[in-house]
Amino acid sequence: MTNTPDSARSELASALASAPRWQNWGRNQSFTVAQIATPASEAEVIATVQRAVAAGETVRAAGSGHSFTPIVETKDVLLDLSHFSGVVSADADTRRAIILAGTKMADVGAPLWEAGLALANQGDTDIQTMSGAIATGTKGSGLAFGNMSSMLRPVRIVNGAGDVVDITEDTPGLLHAAQVSIGLLGVMTQLELEVVPRYRLAEENRIMSFAEVAEKWDELLLNTGIFLSGGARSRVPRPCTTWVTCRRTTAW
Ligand SMILES: Cc1cc2nc3c(=O)[nH]c(=O)nc-3n(C[C@H](O)[C@H](O)[C@H](O)COP(=O)(O)OP(=O)(O)OC[C@H]3O[C@@H](n4cnc5c(N)ncnc54)[C@H](O)[C@@H]3O)c2cc1C
Repeated sequence: MTNTPDSARSELASALASAPRWQNWGRNQSFTVAQIATPASEAEVIATVQRAVAAGETVRAAGSGHSFTPIVETKDVLLDLSHFSGVVSADADTRRAIILAGTKMADVGAPLWEAGLALANQGDTDIQTMSGAIATGTKGSGLAFGNMSSMLRPVRIVNGAGDVVDITEDTPGLLHAAQVSIGLLGVMTQLELEVVPRYRLAEENRIMSFAEVAEKWDELLLNTGIFLSGGARSRVPRPCTTWVTCRRTTAW
C-alpha cells in the first residue's frame, strides 16, 4: 500500500491512540510512551535496559508520580517498579534497613517499627516511593533532621549500559550523586537506609497569627520535629493560620 500523507497521519493517530499514557498525581504532566515496563526482578530490569540501549531508546524510572515537573518523561520506555516493594531487612544494632527501591514510604513504617526502628524524617505525604523521594531530595522538616537523601547509604543501581553497580560509602562522590540523581544515574533497585530508634510523635494543633510564628520561628524550627502549616480555614479569621507541630517522644 502506498504510504500517502493521509495514511501516514492515520497510522500515527492510531499508534498514539493505542500507546500507553502516563500522568502524574497532580495532573499537570502527562505524556505518551512507547512502553511501560513493570519488571518483576533485577534480571528483567537489566534485560529491559539492554534492549532499549541496543535500540537507541531512552529509559526512565517512575515512582508514584508525585513530582510536579517533567522529570519522569520519556517517549520510549518507562519503568514501573511497583514489584520492587518491601523491607528486606532491618537491623536495630547497626540502625540500617535494606528496602526495595519502589517501596512506598507508607509501607516502610510498620516493618521498621517491628524492628524497633523508624525513619528519621519524612515528607508531607507518604505515598511517594522511597527511590523517588531520595532521587529528588524530598524533605521533611525540622532543622535537626536531614532530608530523605541523607538517609541513603549503599545503593544498587542498573546503569545506562544495563550493568549492576553497587555504590557504597567507599565512593562518597558516587554516593552523593546517587543521593539526588533525579533518575539520571540509573535505575535504583535496592536501597540501604540509615534509620533511627523508633519514637512516637506528640501532635499539637495550634492557631497562631503569622506575627507569632515569625517571632518564634527559630525556636519552632529547632525544637519541633515536624512543623506543618495548614492553609487558613474558613472559620479562622485571616491572617491566622493553623500550624501542626509534632515533637518526638519516647514515652508510649
Ligand atoms: C501532595 C504532595 C506532597 C508532597 N510533599 C512533599 C514534602 O513534604 N516535601 C518534599 O520535599 N516534597 C514533597 N512533595 C514532592 C514529592 O515528594 C517528590 O516529588 C518525590 O519525588 C515524589 O516521589 P515519587 O515516588 O512520586 O517519584 P516520581 O515523581 O515518580 O519520580 C521522581 C524522580 O525519581 C526518579 N525515580 C523514581 N524511582 C526511581 C528509581 N527506582 N531509580 C531511579 N530513579 C527513580 C524518577 O525518574 C524521577 O526523576 C510532595 C508532592 C505531592 C504531590
